[in-house]
Amino acid sequence: MYKANLSFVLDGTDNFSTRLAVNKACVLAQKPLVWGAAIRMEGQVSVYDPRLPDCPCYQCLYQHADYETEACSQMGGFTPVVGMIGSVQHKTWTSKG
Ligand SMILES: [Zn+2]
Repeated sequence: MYKANLSFVLDGTDNFSTRLAVNKACVLAQKPLVWGAAIRMEGQVSVYDPRLPDCPCYQCLYQHADYETEACSQMGGFTPVVGMIGSVQHKTWTSKG
């Protein structure tokens, strides 16, 4: 098994099942998850930090969602938005000091 010495995980995957798996790994390893997604002309960035007792994880918030019907391959995405979301993810975590 590969073990990395990570301070956080940045997730930009494009499907719900992988996001849940990444979230689970972060919760088990107690590593902050900086999550980002983009579709069409929109994007979102969130930070889930399992080290904080009152911080929900990705699954807590999206366990009942049905996002598989909104795949990038079907809904499309504006490429510069994807780059902007990645930049915001990076800045969100690195600005935390
Ligand atoms: Zn949770």
